[in-house]
Amino acid sequence: MNTLQAQDFPQILECIEDQKRMLRNAQSYAGQRPARKNEPKPAVQSWLLADLHVVHSSALPTLYPAILRAGKVLFNNLVLETHHRGTYLLVRVLTPQNRMTAVMAIVEDEKSEVFLLQLYHQVEMTEDILVPGGILIIKDPYLKLTADGRHGLRVDHVSDVVFLLAHDKRVPSCWHSELTNPQLKSADFWKTKGNEFFGQSRYQAAVEQALDSSPRADECHIIKLNRSLAFLRTNSFDAALVDVNSVLEVVNGKTKEKALFRKAQALYSLQRYRECCEALKALCLDYPDNAAAKVKLSEAVSRLAEQTTGKYQFKKLHAEAARLRPPQLDHATYIGPVEIRQSGSRGRNLFTTKAVKTGDLLFCEKAGDNLLIDVNANCFTSGAQPELITILVQKLYRNPSLTSAVKGLHCGSYSPVQGTFDIIDGMPVIDSFLLTRILLLNSFGCKFPEKAGALKRPVGIDRLGNLFPSLGLWTFASHMNHSCLSNAFRSFNGDMMIVRAIADIPVDAEITIQYLNPFNPQHQQKYIINWAFVCDCAMCEDDDHTSDIVIAKRKRLGESLQQLLRLLSRRGGSSGTASIASLIRKSSDLLAEMEETYIKPAEGVPRLTLWVGYRDFACALTLTGAGLSSNSQKAIEIGLKALRCLGFVIEGGSLGSNQGLVVKKWGYMEPGELDCWICLKTAYDCTGSHELALAAEGCAKVCYRIQLGEAETFQ
Ligand SMILES: [Zn+2]
Repeated sequence: MNTLQAQDFPQILECIEDQKRMLRNAQSYAGQRPARKNEPKPAVQSWLLADLHVVHSSALPTLYPAILRAGKVLFNNLVLETHHRGTYLLVRVLTPQNRMTAVMAIVEDEKSEVFLLQLYHQVEMTEDILVPGGILIIKDPYLKLTADGRHGLRVDHVSDVVFLLAHDKRVPSCWHSELTNPQLKSADFWKTKGNEFFGQSRYQAAVEQALDSSPRADECHIIKLNRSLAFLRTNSFDAALVDVNSVLEVVNGKTKEKALFRKAQALYSLQRYRECCEALKALCLDYPDNAAAKVKLSEAVSRLAEQTTGKYQFKKLHAEAARLRPPQLDHATYIGPVEIRQSGSRGRNLFTTKAVKTGDLLFCEKAGDNLLIDVNANCFTSGAQPELITILVQKLYRNPSLTSAVKGLHCGSYSPVQGTFDIIDGMPVIDSFLLTRILLLNSFGCKFPEKAGALKRPVGIDRLGNLFPSLGLWTFASHMNHSCLSNAFRSFNGDMMIVRAIADIPVDAEITIQYLNPFNPQHQQKYIINWAFVCDCAMCEDDDHTSDIVIAKRKRLGESLQQLLRLLSRRGGSSGTASIASLIRKSSDLLAEMEETYIKPAEGVPRLTLWVGYRDFACALTLTGAGLSSNSQKAIEIGLKALRCLGFVIEGGSLGSNQGLVVKKWGYMEPGELDCWICLKTAYDCTGSHELALAAEGCAKVCYRIQLGEAETFQ
């Protein structure tokens, strides 16, 4: 959700314009045959000799529907910039692969036509995807023109590629090799072959061939058990489960022990902790000597407790987050008293299922497994998102059971293709463009507290222009709508997003967060347009009715105040009591003048500029006031005013009133709020009002819990 806008970065804008020009040029050739033939020898040789293969992308073609494929075509049948729907092309790889934005190699078709193949969103698990001699089916081929006048196949959707083994029945006779006749080989041969291909995408094909060659029942179980391990290693947990479950029905002894453990591993990775615990308990009961099972069981029990109670050992999470890069933690997602419901014109949103109090945990979500990436400090969305798209594409392609989490997420004006996520040819149809849109509109940038207890300024809060060290997708959290006057606040601990209530919220109320901090609302409107709505909160409305003159006046008064506060802080240590009194008076006058520029009550529309002034004044007074009871008294008065600027309704809090200090209603959540509560606590202590100091500390703790997600590390 923190996508930086290209229009703010001239170089990027220029690059996008270049891309658009190239795309327009390429599309002007749509439907034509390539003018220049790719010469086989030079193409292969230049590929092998070149250090770097710069590919000029003609940008994404629009998506085509995934349909049942029927007709085989040859490269020469293809025309440029056109989707050849309902057809497929067989290709054989001629060169080692190269990876830039895509995995690429030179390939040929059955008539020895040579061309470039680009596969997008592919991830090497253990070895190269395209290896010389490898044979592939490319469904719905798309022939594109590259900027250097050459042409090649571009494959965006992972479900459009089928890797074949040499003996597959679909391999044409011209490419037959010694492996082609499966009848001549035993199941054992194919099992060995499968082990050679262990962990590769082609492994699955090898195993299928082995299962095809009439293995004995016991051989069949071993083959499937081996395949389940390969699936686990390639993060294909759904498929691993299918294999182990079929084996578990019939086996015993060592095989059953292995199968149960793999079942538990797959369930753990899918965050199905209850079933995982059951599998592990059965395993520990039947095989009491299995030490690894006991360790895994204790982990699974902890995850299940997190998932069901929302109780985490946050100090431990902090330590893990500090150690791991990217900080992907092994902890469970907890969904508290909130659920996804339809919310009128604004799509699906989160609602409370019971009343909650300020500071309560609403949910704590782990970024989709592997779906968080650590971006180098000087890199942002444009560099990081493509990587994230590939991770998401692969994850969903390998685990169709996880697609429900992204179905229905906001995708702007993009209309997903019918049949997206349906299972075709045994695999889900993945619309890479849909997932790209979803990521652009739903990923969050986040930064993490450097160490436990240190409140860095904006923790997980978007500030315009901020660069975030990490980027991820939290699918449940993505259902929250924006409001500048939100009732929830998000923070991060590693890749766990912690969302807490910042107000007392009744049952059935919509949960909102700030996508962006509204300190500069005009700027913000521009950003909100990306999510196809304009914020209509009281703050935005008030902003529309506030003249530029008033805004400029507030700014000028704020700057004058900061000058006075600098002087005040400097003189705090010296003896100039008289001049301190004068500085305090002048500062108060400036703030009183600023206060007059506001019309609406702060309870309805927080006064952010005024808040900053009062808060800084209160902090300066606290520093100056050490030992000076009169300054501390002033600090308390100003500190309480600061909080009231944010809409806080506070009862008591004045010295000698015997009323105590009770927050009746929490106000707008600001990063500097914690400082303000700590100033108040210090000032109360200075005046000997220890009960009030304790009350202020209690509020500081609630504030800390909301802004850092937990209060375990509060000191
Ligand atoms: Zn707003």
